[in-house]
Amino acid sequence: MTAERINGKQIVAEIREQITKQVQDLVRNGIQPGLAVVLVGDDPASAVYVRNKEKSCAEVGIHSEVYRLPASTSQGELMELIGRLNRDANIHGILVQLPLPEHLNEEAVIDAISVDKDVDCFHPANVGNLMIGKPGMLPCTPSGVIEVLKRIGVGIEGNHAVVVGRSNIVGKPMAMLLLRENATVTVCHSRTPNMEEITKQADILVVAVGRAQIIEARHVKPGAVVIDVGMNRLDNGKLVGDVHYDSVAQVAGHITPVPGCVGPMTITMLLQNTLQAAQNMAPTPR
Ligand code: NAP
Repeated sequence: MTAERINGKQIVAEIREQITKQVQDLVRNGIQPGLAVVLVGDDPASAVYVRNKEKSCAEVGIHSEVYRLPASTSQGELMELIGRLNRDANIHGILVQLPLPEHLNEEAVIDAISVDKDVDCFHPANVGNLMIGKPGMLPCTPSGVIEVLKRIGVGIEGNHAVVVGRSNIVGKPMAMLLLRENATVTVCHSRTPNMEEITKQADILVVAVGRAQIIEARHVKPGAVVIDVGMNRLDNGKLVGDVHYDSVAQVAGHITPVPGCVGPMTITMLLQNTLQAAQNMAPTPR
């Protein structure tokens, strides 16, 4: 069997077209959705992510402002900027690019972002809403994965979904969203013994570990849908996922490429969240 390669580019293009139309509708009503991105320090990977976000905003007509601050920025200066952006009526989404330099308190910064503008869905109130199933902002990477599964016509309900990784950013919210879609969910992590026995039972396997190509054909049930969230840079500069694509593609039913699917979907969901935040803040017509 050779798996169907999931066409992330096409899915992304379709969703961005819909977002562009909705942004234009809002602009016609006098509201220009706006995203503020805060980058502290000079981490090269973060700088690339921020540029991609800026470019993607421009593509769909969302106004973006990038605050590039020196690594020496103090906690007080950063908190002051967040406060200012919270009060800025032209800004509907605030994203602080992580990781922050070590001397800064990441948790305090996330807590300071207005819940309504927390387009990354990292604020404890938004995480709590996700947990109890209240409508609200959804975390970008996991909601992008759900969107991919829906758009390729994979039924989530009743299927066994295995998530490898339990980070606050990907693994845990991923498991919650799959549960919300009525999958039976198992989460594996670094302390899971005999992981292969569990991953092999997955109808849907989502891998978010951060170790190049650790999932091989022996981990995968024939016909499974394999979603690779991982992004790892090899010594030769090549970007690869957590899944060994060539061998797993011989077993799986569907598989996402890296790069080219979960990465751009994550940014697309960020655009979607910014649009949603702007729609939520728009005055209701009388
Ligand atoms: P993270 O915070 O480092 O978490 C990694 C998780 O993997 C942890 O829960 C860890 O378990 C688990 N793990 C580590 N080694 C393992 C092993 N040998 N077997 C099973 N589980 C293992 O990473 P993250 O932020 O979730 O990111 C994961 C990957 O996704 C990275 O490559 C990252 O770059 C990528 N990513 C991509 C996007 C995107 O937009 N495409 C977005 C976010 C992240 P413990 O909890 O037991 O330590």
